[in-house]
Amino acid sequence: MTSYQAFHKRSIEDRNGFWGEQAELIHWNKKPEQIYDFSKPPFVKWFVGGETNLCYNAVDRHAETNPDGKALVYISTETNEEKTYSFAELRTEVMRMAAIYQALGVKKGDRVLIYMPMIAEAAFAMLACARIGAIHSVVFGGFASHSLATRIDDAKPTVIVSADAGMRGGRPVPYKHLLDEAISLAEHKPAAVLMVNRGLDTEMNVVAGRDVDYATLRAQHINADVPVTWVESSEPSYILYTSGTTGKPKGVQRDTGGYAVALAASMKHIYCGNPGETFFSTSDIGWVVGHSYIIYGPLIAGMATIMYEGTPLRPDAGIWWKICEEQQVTVMFSAPTAIRVLKKQDPAFLKKYDLSRLRALYCAGEPMDETSHQWMMDELGIPVIDHYWQTETGWAMLSLMPGVEKQGVQLGSPGFPVYGYDVRLFRDDGSECGPNEKGIVGVVPPLPPGCLSTVWGDDKRFVSTYFTLFQEPLVYSSFDWGIKDDAGYYKILGRTDDVINVAGHRLGTREIEEAVQAHPAIAEVAVVGVADQLKGQMPMAFAVVKDPASVDTPEKVAELEKAVMKIVDGSLGAIARPARVHFISGLPKTRSGKMLRRSIQALAEGRDPGDLTTIEDPSTLEQIRAALVAK
Ligand code: ATP
Ligand code: MG
Repeated sequence: MTSYQAFHKRSIEDRNGFWGEQAELIHWNKKPEQIYDFSKPPFVKWFVGGETNLCYNAVDRHAETNPDGKALVYISTETNEEKTYSFAELRTEVMRMAAIYQALGVKKGDRVLIYMPMIAEAAFAMLACARIGAIHSVVFGGFASHSLATRIDDAKPTVIVSADAGMRGGRPVPYKHLLDEAISLAEHKPAAVLMVNRGLDTEMNVVAGRDVDYATLRAQHINADVPVTWVESSEPSYILYTSGTTGKPKGVQRDTGGYAVALAASMKHIYCGNPGETFFSTSDIGWVVGHSYIIYGPLIAGMATIMYEGTPLRPDAGIWWKICEEQQVTVMFSAPTAIRVLKKQDPAFLKKYDLSRLRALYCAGEPMDETSHQWMMDELGIPVIDHYWQTETGWAMLSLMPGVEKQGVQLGSPGFPVYGYDVRLFRDDGSECGPNEKGIVGVVPPLPPGCLSTVWGDDKRFVSTYFTLFQEPLVYSSFDWGIKDDAGYYKILGRTDDVINVAGHRLGTREIEEAVQAHPAIAEVAVVGVADQLKGQMPMAFAVVKDPASVDTPEKVAELEKAVMKIVDGSLGAIARPARVHFISGLPKTRSGKMLRRSIQALAEGRDPGDLTTIEDPSTLEQIRAALVAK
C-alpha cells in the first residue's frame, strides 16, 4: 500500500482519529465534543459542539501574528486599479462592513445577499457576514434579474450588497437596474440595499428609504470594533447555488466548522500552500471555487489571495502570467475552459514572464482534454493538476495530493479519491464496477467535512436529489459518469444525463469530444446524443475551429468533417463516429464556463432548449439552430 492509500484508508476507517487531527489546523473557541454525528443518515454533522468562526480563522488569527503580511490583492485590468491589504487592514475593513450590517439590522443567522463584481468590497462583504454569524448568499454578478429574483426569494435576505456596475472587456456593465428589477419581481423585500458606488454608472437610480451608500456608512463606522460571533460548528455559513448546467440550480447549504477544517486540510495536503505565499485563483466569487479558493482557503492558510477583475486576454494574453510574476504567485487555480482560450493565443506570452515561483496549476470545472492538458504542462513546465469537485462538495473529491505523496500526473485524469471521500463507481443496479468499467460516480456517506449539509430550506430535496439513486446501498450520487484504471486513476466521462447510447454501447460525451479535440484544427467541441430510430442514439458534434479560414468554403467544411470523423473512427471505432459535425463559432455555456449539452441536444432533437437562466451567450443557440437547418 502506498503512503497515500494508507492515508486515505485511515480517513475512512478511523474518521474520529483522522478528522480529529485535521481539526487542529484551525482555531476553536470551544473544542468539538464529538468529531461527527451520523445518527440520522444521510445527514451528517461535523465537529459537534465545537465553536469557531470562519472570519477569525481567515483574518484575525493572522492579523494578530502577522499584521503587516499581505492578505488581499485587488487587481483590476478593467479600471486599472491595484490595491493590497495587509491582514490588519483587511480586519479593519471587515469590521467596518460588519458594523454597517449591524446598523442595518443584520443579526446572527440572517441572510445577506451579495451581488457584486470582483472588487475588494465583495470580499469584505463575505467575511463580514462570517464575522457576525450572518449567512451570505453570493449571486454571480451579471446574472439577469429573473435569476436574481428567484435567489432573493429563496434566501430572503435582510440586506443586499451590490455595486453600481461591473466591468467587462473595458465596458461598464450596470448592475443596479437589474437588481431593482429583481427586487420588484421578488416577493421578498430586503430591509436595505447597500450600494458600493464605483462611479461607473452615472444614471444609477437610488430608492429613498431602502438604498444606502457604502462610502457614507463606512465613514460613520471608521473606528468600528466588532468582535467575532462564535458559532456552533454545524451552523450555516453560506448558501450557494450550483451552476444550473443540468437544470434548476440547487441551493447548497454549507456549515462552518467542517468547512473551515476541510479547507485548511486541503491547503496543506492538496495545494501545498505556505503562509506568506500568494495564491491566485482566476475564478469569480459567484462560484464555489471563488468561495473556497479566492476567499476562505488561502486566507485560512495565511496566504495572500488575488482578486482579479478582468479577462485572461486583456490587455493581452500574458496578463495572468504578468500577475504571477509581479505577485510572486506560488499556487494557481483555473479552469479547462480558460486553458482552451489561452491555447488559441500566441505562446510567446507565456515565455515573457518569470514564473519560477509557480509550483503548480490546479484546474477544475469540466473534463480537461488530454491535448489541452499536455499543452499547458509543456508551456508552463510545472504540474497541471486536474481535480474534480462540485458546488455541493465545496472542495476536491478526486485529485492528486502532493502534500501527502508525490503522484504522477496522468493526462486527462483528476487522479484519486481524496481523503475523507469513499468514492466508488456503480452499475445501474447499485453493484460496484470493476477496474476499467464505466459507471456512475458515487460517494458512500457520510460525506466528509466541508460538503453540503443540506439543500437550503429543503431537507427533502437534499435526500431526493442526492441519495435516492439506489435503494441499497445508500450512496451520494453526483450524476457523473466515470471510469477507473488498474492503477486507480479516475477519469470523468461526462454527466450521466449526457451519456450516449449507440446500439447498446454507452459512451460518455467526453470520450468522443476528447477524440475530436485531438484534431489540430479544432479549438473546442460539444458532442450530444440525438435520438435515432435504428440505433437508439447517434452522436452529433458541434465544433469551433481555431481559424475560421479552415471552414470558409463548403469544400473545406466537407473535408474537415470527414477528417474529424476519421479521427474518431481511429481512436474509438466507427460506433462513436458523429453522424454530423457542425462548425459554429461559439458554444452555449453557463456563466461559469460549462457546456450546456442538454440545450444543444434539445435543439438537435427539435425540442425546447429548457431552462436558460444561467446561459452566457444566448446567440450561440441561434447558431446551432441555423446549423441544423442548413444541413
Ligand atoms: P447543476 O448541478 O446545477 O446542473 P453543475 O453540475 O455544472 O450544475 P457545479 O457544481 O458548478 O454545477 O459543477 C460540478 C460539475 O462539474 C461536476 O459534477 C462535473 O460534472 C463537472 N466537473 C467539475 N470538475 C471536473 C473535472 N475536473 N473533470 C470533469 N468534470 C468536472
Ligand atoms: Mg451538478
